[in-house]
Amino acid sequence: MMDWTSPTPPLQILTSDAFERVGVEVAILREDLLHPEISGNKFRKLKYNLLEAQRLGYTKLLTFGGAYSNHIAALAMAGKIHHFKTLGIIRGEEIKDKIAQNPTLFSASQNGMQFEFITREAYRNKDTPAFLEQLAIDYPDYYVVPEGGTNELAIRGCEEILTPDLHNFDYISIAIGTGGSCAGVLKSTQPHQTVLGFPVVKGIDFSEIIRNFTPKQNYKLVTDYHFGGYGKVSDELIVFINQFKKEHQIPLDPLYTGKMVYGTMHLIEQGYFKQGAKILMIHTGGLQGITGINQVLKQKNKICIE
Ligand SMILES: *Cc1c(COP(=O)(O)O)cnc(C)c1O
Repeated sequence: MMDWTSPTPPLQILTSDAFERVGVEVAILREDLLHPEISGNKFRKLKYNLLEAQRLGYTKLLTFGGAYSNHIAALAMAGKIHHFKTLGIIRGEEIKDKIAQNPTLFSASQNGMQFEFITREAYRNKDTPAFLEQLAIDYPDYYVVPEGGTNELAIRGCEEILTPDLHNFDYISIAIGTGGSCAGVLKSTQPHQTVLGFPVVKGIDFSEIIRNFTPKQNYKLVTDYHFGGYGKVSDELIVFINQFKKEHQIPLDPLYTGKMVYGTMHLIEQGYFKQGAKILMIHTGGLQGITGINQVLKQKNKICIE
């Protein structure tokens, strides 16, 4: 049985000439080390959802995701550990016969997850009443966890990321996919702290989403570092990730944490922070996705993540 009681991830202080020059202190909260497969914010987001499913007597979980989804990987593993059957509704029918070649789905299936593959169009409509009604008919006894895992219970889990001993930081950088983790962290801030949310998705107004979960306003959305949108990466980003790992021995994923750390470093170099500022970056995990993303990069003859 897995322990859901608040784990304390290591806080790693970063050193670099650039930080000294500008006069800022930088640290990274290694949430990626919470668990090898239920990593980072997915651990936080699943915690109260699975406890609730257990409380209500469910033995089966259902959720949604893409082919390299960290959420799918995390839910499959959490289901295995906590004895739930799991079902993943996966975007893209064409992947159906390629599970063995996809590291995320292969490992999820090894952990007992069953799949239903649906077309991209059907996937887009998965929040409509018609789709949800059919889902309830097809899978009546499943506890449904939303895509990306964001709901009230997920936010409650993410509130546990920022513990009181981290209240000495002035800025907290975090990647935004759906905005749930950012909202949870924001809820736990003190008024003197500013959350910097880095959307990795293009063209969504996350302030509206965050407002649904907390009235707090001490945050900024930094929208210049999505690298073209969700799942998009550039050679420059990959080079940065490889360089960062060499320098600090910290692996980053290219879809979330790589973009957030790149953005934070860029802001530091640009003099965005005043002298003496203490900056905390949240490593939300996502490292399981690297193998699959490297496969795609290799096919395109691009630089890979080391
Ligand atoms: C899912 C994920 C995010 C995004 O979290 P949201 O709560 O959806 O904003 C950030 N980082 C990593 C590594 C993730 O896997």
